[in-house]
Amino acid sequence: MNLDELIQRVERARLKRSEHLIVQIVAVTKYTDDVEVLKRLFDDGQRAFGENRVQDMEKKVIALSDLPIEWHFIGNLQKNKINKLLKLNPFMIQSINSYELAEAINKRAKKPIKCLIEINSSNEPTKHGMPPEEAVDTYLKIKENLKNIDLKGVMTIGAHSDDEKAIRESFRKTYKIYEALKPYGAKICSMGMSGDFEIAIEEGSNMIRIGSALIKDYM
Ligand SMILES: *Cc1c(COP(=O)(O)O)cnc(C)c1O
Repeated sequence: MNLDELIQRVERARLKRSEHLIVQIVAVTKYTDDVEVLKRLFDDGQRAFGENRVQDMEKKVIALSDLPIEWHFIGNLQKNKINKLLKLNPFMIQSINSYELAEAINKRAKKPIKCLIEINSSNEPTKHGMPPEEAVDTYLKIKENLKNIDLKGVMTIGAHSDDEKAIRESFRKTYKIYEALKPYGAKICSMGMSGDFEIAIEEGSNMIRIGSALIKDYM
């Protein structure tokens, strides 16, 4: 699927939810080391890119530093990689999965950085992210105490399942948390990947992170 085809599918899903819903696309580039692939995507109009490893992101940020790309960090961030990540000046860190991680970033950051909290909406032990029951409290605690963490909303990975109902339920749960946080400035509900973005959009996602289904067309 190329970017135009993706946009058409997003458009159809969006209209099922609401004509007022605007959905941003983050192209996840972890499946390739070839920056020419990213350039082709850029030429097609893509501006937001996501990576889940600091090392890989660094290479791509450096190689493409002359292009106005918005970099999103979406992976599990180890504390010893925080400084390296901050040096890359990412547009957003989507994967704040604990108060402790937020605290560690807050301490090292020299200016506020846009972040999302990651929610383990399907309660899968193999997944990162905070338990849904703790998400609102943790969000508010970060907002209150950590001035360099500029919280913008929530992110989740949908349930890993063939059962559409289970996937939908994990998105619905995340959307509810997002709604609860809207009065506190939450603007982004990042959910939906290659296999489930249409369900995510129907459940209110306004940012999808698409890797495999998009990138392969540009390789
Ligand atoms: C890899 C990844 C994606 C993209 O996954 P695809 O299924 O390839 O679209 C989205 N979000 C996160 C956090 C990822 O690690």
